[in-house]
Amino acid sequence: MISKYLILLCAPVMLAADLPKVDLHIHLHGEDHNTPEMKPADAAALSRKMGVRFGILAEGGCRGDIHDNQTLGEFLDEVRDQPLWRGLQVYGFDWANCLSSDLRGQLDYIAADALVFPDKNGKSIWLWLPNIEVGDAQDFMDRYVAFNERVLSQPIQIWANPTYVPEKLKAQYDALWTPARMDRLIQAAVRNHVAIEINAHFQVPSAAFIRRAKAAGAKFSFGSNSHVKGMGEIDYCLRIAQQCGLTAADIYVPARRPGR
Ligand SMILES: [Zn+2]
Repeated sequence: MISKYLILLCAPVMLAADLPKVDLHIHLHGEDHNTPEMKPADAAALSRKMGVRFGILAEGGCRGDIHDNQTLGEFLDEVRDQPLWRGLQVYGFDWANCLSSDLRGQLDYIAADALVFPDKNGKSIWLWLPNIEVGDAQDFMDRYVAFNERVLSQPIQIWANPTYVPEKLKAQYDALWTPARMDRLIQAAVRNHVAIEINAHFQVPSAAFIRRAKAAGAKFSFGSNSHVKGMGEIDYCLRIAQQCGLTAADIYVPARRPGR
Protein backbone atom coordinates (compact mmCIF):
# COMPACT_ATOMS: atom_id res chain seq x y z
CA MET A 1 0.00 0.00 0.00
CA ILE A 2 2.73 2.41 1.01
CA SER A 3 4.81 1.70 -2.09
CA LYS A 4 1.82 2.24 -4.37
CA TYR A 5 1.23 5.57 -2.70
CA LEU A 6 4.86 6.54 -3.14
CA ILE A 7 4.79 5.71 -6.85
CA LEU A 8 1.75 7.91 -7.32
CA LEU A 9 3.47 10.76 -5.53
CA CYS A 10 6.79 10.44 -7.31
CA ALA A 11 5.81 9.72 -10.89
CA PRO A 12 4.89 13.28 -11.93
CA VAL A 13 7.99 14.70 -10.26
CA MET A 14 10.21 12.30 -12.18
CA LEU A 15 8.53 13.20 -15.46
CA ALA A 16 8.92 16.93 -14.84
CA ALA A 17 12.60 16.46 -14.03
CA ASP A 18 13.09 15.05 -17.52
CA LEU A 19 11.94 18.28 -19.18
CA PRO A 20 14.63 20.90 -19.86
CA LYS A 21 14.42 24.05 -17.72
CA VAL A 22 14.71 26.53 -20.54
CA ASP A 23 13.03 29.90 -21.19
CA LEU A 24 13.54 31.04 -24.78
CA HIS A 25 11.17 34.03 -24.73
CA ILE A 26 12.78 36.71 -22.61
CA HIS A 27 12.94 40.42 -23.41
CA LEU A 28 15.38 42.59 -21.50
CA HIS A 29 13.24 45.72 -21.88
CA GLY A 30 9.92 46.55 -20.24
CA GLU A 31 6.72 46.12 -22.21
CA ASP A 32 6.33 49.89 -22.54
CA HIS A 33 10.00 50.33 -23.52
CA ASN A 34 10.24 52.92 -20.72
CA THR A 35 11.20 50.63 -17.84
CA PRO A 36 14.99 50.42 -17.64
CA GLU A 37 16.41 47.45 -19.47
CA MET A 38 17.92 44.59 -17.56
CA LYS A 39 21.60 44.11 -18.29
CA PRO A 40 22.57 40.77 -19.87
CA ALA A 41 24.94 40.08 -16.93
CA ASP A 42 22.03 40.49 -14.47
CA ALA A 43 19.84 38.20 -16.57
CA ALA A 44 22.64 35.62 -16.57
CA ALA A 45 22.90 35.86 -12.77
CA LEU A 46 19.14 35.38 -12.43
CA SER A 47 19.27 32.41 -14.80
CA ARG A 48 21.95 30.76 -12.66
CA LYS A 49 19.98 31.46 -9.49
CA MET A 50 16.76 29.99 -10.91
CA GLY A 51 18.40 27.01 -12.60
CA VAL A 52 16.61 27.95 -15.84
CA ARG A 53 18.64 28.59 -19.01
CA PHE A 54 17.64 31.82 -20.74
CA GLY A 55 17.33 32.76 -24.38
CA ILE A 56 17.20 36.54 -24.87
CA LEU A 57 14.98 37.77 -27.67
CA ALA A 58 15.76 41.07 -29.34
CA GLU A 59 12.91 42.38 -31.48
CA GLY A 60 12.70 43.81 -34.96
CA GLY A 61 13.65 43.08 -38.55
CA CYS A 62 13.57 46.10 -40.83
CA ARG A 63 11.85 48.20 -38.15
CA GLY A 64 11.98 48.30 -34.35
CA ASP A 65 14.92 47.94 -31.94
CA ILE A 66 16.78 45.77 -34.45
CA HIS A 67 16.49 47.32 -37.90
CA ASP A 68 19.86 46.95 -39.60
CA ASN A 69 23.22 45.20 -39.33
CA GLN A 70 24.53 47.72 -36.85
CA THR A 71 21.71 47.27 -34.34
CA LEU A 72 21.80 43.48 -34.67
CA GLY A 73 25.61 43.48 -34.30
CA GLU A 74 25.34 45.58 -31.13
CA PHE A 75 22.82 43.14 -29.63
CA LEU A 76 25.01 40.15 -30.46
CA ASP A 77 28.07 41.84 -28.89
CA GLU A 78 26.13 42.79 -25.78
CA VAL A 79 25.04 39.22 -25.06
CA ARG A 80 28.07 37.41 -26.54
CA ASP A 81 30.10 36.87 -23.37
CA GLN A 82 27.18 35.79 -21.22
CA PRO A 83 25.88 32.25 -20.73
CA LEU A 84 22.69 33.18 -22.59
CA TRP A 85 21.26 32.22 -25.94
CA ARG A 86 20.76 34.99 -28.48
CA GLY A 87 17.45 35.07 -30.29
CA LEU A 88 15.53 37.51 -32.46
CA GLN A 89 11.77 37.92 -32.60
CA VAL A 90 11.09 39.16 -36.10
CA TYR A 91 8.21 41.24 -37.42
CA GLY A 92 7.11 41.52 -41.02
CA PHE A 93 8.37 39.31 -43.83
CA ASP A 94 11.23 41.44 -45.13
CA TRP A 95 13.72 41.03 -42.25
CA ALA A 96 16.18 38.93 -44.25
CA ASN A 97 16.65 41.96 -46.54
CA CYS A 98 17.75 44.20 -43.67
CA LEU A 99 19.98 41.80 -41.68
CA SER A 100 23.01 40.09 -43.20
CA SER A 101 23.12 36.32 -43.34
CA ASP A 102 26.44 36.39 -41.46
CA LEU A 103 24.89 38.20 -38.48
CA ARG A 104 21.69 36.12 -38.65
CA GLY A 105 23.93 33.06 -38.51
CA GLN A 106 25.29 34.25 -35.17
CA LEU A 107 21.83 34.06 -33.63
CA ASP A 108 20.88 30.84 -31.87
CA TYR A 109 17.32 31.04 -33.13
CA ILE A 110 14.70 33.26 -34.75
CA ALA A 111 11.13 33.43 -33.47
CA ALA A 112 8.03 34.95 -35.03
CA ASP A 113 4.41 35.33 -34.08
CA ALA A 114 1.25 36.48 -35.86
CA LEU A 115 0.17 39.16 -33.40
CA VAL A 116 0.84 42.10 -35.70
CA PHE A 117 -2.00 41.17 -37.98
CA PRO A 118 -2.99 42.85 -41.25
CA ASP A 119 -6.65 43.79 -41.17
CA LYS A 120 -8.82 43.68 -44.31
CA ASN A 121 -7.97 47.29 -45.11
CA GLY A 122 -4.25 46.49 -44.95
CA LYS A 123 -3.73 48.27 -41.63
CA SER A 124 -1.76 46.35 -38.98
CA ILE A 125 -3.66 45.61 -35.80
CA TRP A 126 -1.96 44.63 -32.57
CA LEU A 127 -3.94 41.65 -31.40
CA TRP A 128 -2.60 41.66 -27.84
CA LEU A 129 -4.11 45.02 -26.97
CA PRO A 130 -7.36 44.97 -24.98
CA ASN A 131 -10.64 45.75 -26.76
CA ILE A 132 -9.36 44.91 -30.22
CA GLU A 133 -12.25 44.58 -32.69
CA VAL A 134 -11.81 41.88 -35.30
CA GLY A 135 -15.33 41.70 -36.71
CA ASP A 136 -16.91 38.34 -37.53
CA ALA A 137 -15.08 35.68 -35.51
CA GLN A 138 -15.14 32.93 -38.16
CA ASP A 139 -13.96 35.27 -40.88
CA PHE A 140 -11.20 36.55 -38.60
CA MET A 141 -10.08 33.00 -37.80
CA ASP A 142 -9.87 32.04 -41.47
CA ARG A 143 -7.67 35.04 -42.22
CA TYR A 144 -5.68 34.53 -38.99
CA VAL A 145 -4.93 30.87 -39.80
CA ALA A 146 -3.79 31.84 -43.32
CA PHE A 147 -1.56 34.58 -41.85
CA ASN A 148 -0.08 32.15 -39.30
CA GLU A 149 0.65 29.74 -42.14
CA ARG A 150 2.60 32.49 -43.87
CA VAL A 151 4.51 33.24 -40.64
CA LEU A 152 5.34 29.54 -40.34
CA SER A 153 6.67 29.35 -43.90
CA GLN A 154 9.66 31.56 -42.99
CA PRO A 155 13.14 30.30 -42.02
CA ILE A 156 12.44 30.51 -38.27
CA GLN A 157 12.92 28.09 -35.39
CA ILE A 158 10.09 29.10 -33.01
CA TRP A 159 6.44 29.98 -33.55
CA ALA A 160 5.80 32.35 -30.64
CA ASN A 161 2.43 33.01 -29.00
CA PRO A 162 0.82 30.23 -31.05
CA THR A 163 -2.99 30.13 -31.29
CA TYR A 164 -3.37 33.34 -29.25
CA VAL A 165 -6.73 34.95 -29.88
CA PRO A 166 -7.68 38.57 -29.00
CA GLU A 167 -9.21 39.15 -25.59
CA LYS A 168 -12.78 39.44 -26.94
CA LEU A 169 -12.58 35.96 -28.51
CA LYS A 170 -10.89 34.27 -25.56
CA ALA A 171 -14.08 32.65 -24.24
CA GLN A 172 -14.59 31.01 -27.65
CA TYR A 173 -10.98 29.75 -27.99
CA ASP A 174 -11.84 26.02 -28.00
CA ALA A 175 -14.70 26.41 -30.47
CA LEU A 176 -12.72 28.67 -32.82
CA TRP A 177 -9.70 26.36 -32.92
CA THR A 178 -11.44 23.59 -34.81
CA PRO A 179 -9.50 20.39 -35.58
CA ALA A 180 -9.14 21.50 -39.22
CA ARG A 181 -7.65 24.87 -38.22
CA MET A 182 -5.33 23.25 -35.67
CA ASP A 183 -4.13 20.64 -38.15
CA ARG A 184 -3.38 23.18 -40.86
CA LEU A 185 -0.94 25.04 -38.61
CA ILE A 186 0.46 21.93 -36.92
CA GLN A 187 1.28 20.55 -40.36
CA ALA A 188 2.90 23.84 -41.37
CA ALA A 189 5.06 23.79 -38.22
CA VAL A 190 6.09 20.17 -38.68
CA ARG A 191 6.77 20.62 -42.41
CA ASN A 192 9.02 23.64 -41.80
CA HIS A 193 10.66 22.29 -38.59
CA VAL A 194 9.38 25.15 -36.46
CA ALA A 195 8.99 24.51 -32.72
CA ILE A 196 5.62 25.45 -31.23
CA GLU A 197 6.11 27.66 -28.20
CA ILE A 198 4.28 26.82 -24.99
CA ASN A 199 3.73 30.35 -23.74
CA ALA A 200 3.37 30.89 -19.98
CA HIS A 201 2.14 34.50 -20.25
CA PHE A 202 -0.87 33.85 -22.49
CA GLN A 203 -1.14 30.18 -21.49
CA VAL A 204 -1.31 29.01 -25.09
CA PRO A 205 -1.69 26.71 -26.93
CA SER A 206 -4.38 24.54 -25.35
CA ALA A 207 -3.70 21.01 -24.11
CA ALA A 208 -5.85 19.72 -26.99
CA PHE A 209 -3.59 21.53 -29.46
CA ILE A 210 -0.39 20.29 -27.78
CA ARG A 211 -1.58 16.66 -27.78
CA ARG A 212 -2.57 16.88 -31.44
CA ALA A 213 0.75 18.50 -32.36
CA LYS A 214 2.74 15.89 -30.46
CA ALA A 215 0.89 13.10 -32.27
CA ALA A 216 1.83 14.80 -35.57
CA GLY A 217 5.52 14.85 -34.58
CA ALA A 218 5.86 18.55 -33.71
CA LYS A 219 8.52 19.99 -31.41
CA PHE A 220 7.82 22.54 -28.68
CA SER A 221 9.68 25.29 -26.88
CA PHE A 222 9.15 26.94 -23.51
CA GLY A 223 8.70 30.70 -23.17
CA SER A 224 7.68 33.00 -20.33
CA ASN A 225 7.15 35.89 -22.78
CA SER A 226 8.51 38.16 -20.08
CA HIS A 227 9.59 41.76 -20.22
CA VAL A 228 12.02 42.15 -17.30
CA LYS A 229 9.39 40.82 -14.86
CA GLY A 230 8.68 37.08 -14.81
CA MET A 231 11.89 35.91 -16.48
CA GLY A 232 12.40 32.18 -16.23
CA GLU A 233 8.93 31.55 -14.82
CA ILE A 234 8.08 28.47 -16.85
CA ASP A 235 6.07 26.49 -14.27
CA TYR A 236 3.01 26.66 -16.53
CA CYS A 237 5.02 25.29 -19.49
CA LEU A 238 6.41 22.40 -17.45
CA ARG A 239 3.02 21.57 -15.97
CA ILE A 240 1.08 21.43 -19.23
CA ALA A 241 3.94 19.67 -21.03
CA GLN A 242 3.88 17.02 -18.34
CA GLN A 243 0.08 16.77 -18.52
CA CYS A 244 0.31 16.21 -22.28
CA GLY A 245 3.00 13.55 -21.95
CA LEU A 246 5.85 15.56 -23.51
CA THR A 247 9.40 14.49 -22.73
CA ALA A 248 12.81 16.10 -23.24
CA ALA A 249 12.91 14.72 -26.79
CA ASP A 250 9.87 16.85 -27.69
CA ILE A 251 11.40 20.14 -26.54
CA TYR A 252 13.54 22.37 -28.75
CA VAL A 253 16.77 23.55 -27.15
CA PRO A 254 19.30 25.56 -29.23
CA ALA A 255 22.33 23.54 -30.28
CA ARG A 256 25.04 25.85 -28.95
CA ARG A 257 26.04 25.70 -25.32
CA PRO A 258 25.32 29.26 -24.18
CA GLY A 259 28.33 31.34 -23.25
CA ARG A 260 30.66 29.55 -25.71
ZN1 LIG B 1 7.98 38.53 -27.33
